[in-house]
Amino acid sequence: MKLHEYLSKRTFEKYGIPIPKGEVAATPSEAMQIAKDLGGRVIVKSQVLVGGRGKAGGIRLANNPQEAKKIASDILDMEIKGLPVRKVLIDEAANIESEIYLGITNDRAARKPIMMASAEGGVEIEEVARKTPEKIIKIRIDPLLGLQGYQTRDLAAGINLPREQWRAFGKVAYGLWKAYAGSDATLAEINPLVITAENELLAVDGKMVLDDSALFRHPDLAEMRDLDLEADAEIEAREHGLSYIKLDGSIGCMVNGAGLAMTTMDIIKLFGGEPANFLDIGGGADAEKVAAALRIILSDTNVKAVLLNIFGGITRCDLVAQGVVDALEQVKTDVPMVVRLVGTNAEEGRQILANAKMETAETLVDAAKKAVAAAERNTLK
Ligand code: GDP
Ligand code: MN
Repeated sequence: MKLHEYLSKRTFEKYGIPIPKGEVAATPSEAMQIAKDLGGRVIVKSQVLVGGRGKAGGIRLANNPQEAKKIASDILDMEIKGLPVRKVLIDEAANIESEIYLGITNDRAARKPIMMASAEGGVEIEEVARKTPEKIIKIRIDPLLGLQGYQTRDLAAGINLPREQWRAFGKVAYGLWKAYAGSDATLAEINPLVITAENELLAVDGKMVLDDSALFRHPDLAEMRDLDLEADAEIEAREHGLSYIKLDGSIGCMVNGAGLAMTTMDIIKLFGGEPANFLDIGGGADAEKVAAALRIILSDTNVKAVLLNIFGGITRCDLVAQGVVDALEQVKTDVPMVVRLVGTNAEEGRQILANAKMETAETLVDAAKKAVAAAERNTLK
């Protein structure tokens, strides 16, 4: 789950990172009032969950409250990269001397968090990584020991930060590490972290991505979820307790169990197909869940065939089969379906599906081959 800039920065602030004074507004007059309270020049920033807002015109300087009102009104009418702007952050404008990048994410290969800094702040870090990777300084953090003082000094030295900033930089880096670990984040990023004309460090932008699987430990943050930015399918999946991840292929997969879902995706690829999604309907799925899963899969127009691979342990195959038949009455489709059922009441399940004229398969290999072939036929049609 991505956090909006203002929420990311508020989280940073809790961990001792200096941020500009500011408030969020949903209307132009609120924006004007906030600008008045801040007294002077402000920066009006669209709160949408994409990068490059600056370039897109979603970040503008206002010299007085009246101007802030006008700019807020313009920005609140915008769509940035397809996302509507519902809120603007009004921040005290900073006098920026230079911009630094500082971020932390997981390095899976090293099995450690990795902190990265660059003197090339304010631009997309992916760009820097591509063109001048040597300008990104990296350190890996031992999760048990935490970020060490010598490591932040290595970063500071690596980006040629003036000595007088080192202490403040260390505090920001340590705060970012604590914010990252304390929120179960997968990304915490300040881009740019600026040095102001007053020689202070200030986090003017903030971005956090939280681990969805750990959100239950952060109910305060979980309720900040912005539904605007999520695909309808993902919202519906969550409501029904399904794990769904959309992918780019053409074969929709409905599977019970995460391991089985991954196996199914692997075997589809083995036979030359591409999975359209990962979908785990979980154990004990009932007809209603199955119907929701099918609706979600078929809402993806790339899907040319669906492979249902169900292992009936706790789940009864006949109930799943009935769920599929019921769902197909609600969701009319001519997308071909291939079904493999194994386990409790599999025979009854297969009978129900055969009566509904669906293609069944005995083994997973057989099912994958049939699904790949069905998708190809349907694509050529
Ligand atoms: P992004 O484009 O979505 O990454 O949004 P940022 O918050 O990073 O803002 C983009 C750029 O706007 C920054 O790199 C700064 O150069 C500039 N900017 C942001 N806040 C201020 C501010 O308070 N004062 C000034 N002068 N520039 C700012
Ligand atoms: Mn930025």
